Amino acid sequence: MPCRNMSETDAAFAVCCAVPCDADGVTIIARPAGRPGERAALFSNKYGQSTGVVVFDRVFVAWERVFLAGEWQHSSQLTYSYATHHRHTCIAARAGFGDLLIGAGALMCEANGFDPGQETHLREQMVQLITIVEGFYACGVAASVYASADSLSKTVTPDPVFANIGKLLLANQIYEMHRIAHYVSGGLIVTLPGPDEDHNPETAAQLADVLRANPAVPYDKRIEAARLIEDLTASYQGGWYSVISLHGGGSPEAMKKEIWRNYPVGNKVDLVERLLHRNVLADTGRKIAAVRQPGKCCDAGCTPPSPTAMVALPGQLPGETST
Ligand SMILES: Cc1cc2nc3c(=O)[nH]c(=O)nc-3n(C[C@H](O)[C@H](O)[C@H](O)COP(=O)(O)OP(=O)(O)OC[C@H]3O[C@@H](n4cnc5c(N)ncnc54)[C@H](O)[C@@H]3O)c2cc1C
Repeated sequence: MPCRNMSETDAAFAVCCAVPCDADGVTIIARPAGRPGERAALFSNKYGQSTGVVVFDRVFVAWERVFLAGEWQHSSQLTYSYATHHRHTCIAARAGFGDLLIGAGALMCEANGFDPGQETHLREQMVQLITIVEGFYACGVAASVYASADSLSKTVTPDPVFANIGKLLLANQIYEMHRIAHYVSGGLIVTLPGPDEDHNPETAAQLADVLRANPAVPYDKRIEAARLIEDLTASYQGGWYSVISLHGGGSPEAMKKEIWRNYPVGNKVDLVERLLHRNVLADTGRKIAAVRQPGKCCDAGCTPPSPTAMVALPGQLPGETST
């Protein structure tokens, strides 16, 4: 991928391409995905995302998979487009994570012997968790509903304002989500003996007896919910989920810049000036009124995609497209 802010002198680095992950010359220096093999890790011993440093050493790239080859003028368009899609998908990922916390939090309340419908302080926390999760999920839905198709490529891009707001909300609120999961669950999620004790003939029966709270919920069901919450929020993996939420798809400042760059403040200035009958809008050059919909700065948009950016494949006539 190129960078957002490239100049002509960076042309040699303005490249973007895709290769199979096992292509000759590619080395991925990775770390394990999740917590494979750990019995207490009820989620991440099965589901995980590996991260790695990818080293390219004389890798052959098929021309069909080259998306940018020195056209530094288009590096920002490519990077912004990629980031908008990535942030939109981050919302979906973290909303799913939030669903797990809501479900597991409710199970822990039940196993602890409490009904959040009756215990107002637990209901308040659960509603706060639901509000956070569904709040940024709604931004994802709005980004889809207000998505727009590029007139030339027909590629559909999520609305950048809603995609960036949703990602910013989840980045900042992931820590609050963890806190609420801890609040409603209690300390058991980290004090509970490990899976080795589950079948220890010396202790298992005693643990099952003393660590049951709600008589209707057997011990093994309570500790399952507790271990799931530990895995998601209080383990090495729980910390990892925080960091990917904060920095994955770009750090918060990057989202703030994109929200301000794309938000049609000019339209809102119009609205208020109409309301105030000031009628001073003839000067659209005023900085505070510059960003408008639909083209943000003008009716056509600042950077409409240009067909001249398309590079013909070797042996192909200009204007011909590959399948
Ligand atoms: C688990 C995980 C998975 C990821 N997966 C992906 C992925 O699939 N695809 C992908 O593209 N990226 C992915 N990322 C990378 C992510 O996009 C980067 O982590 C993110 O862009 C931040 O970059 P950085 O971590 O190098 O932090 P840095 O850029 O070092 O930033 C650290 C801090 O310094 C600030 N800062 C940085 N530069 C400046 C500056 N010039 N002026 C002022 N402040 C500055 C930042 O705002 C931040 O607060 C992933 C990250 C994580 C943690």
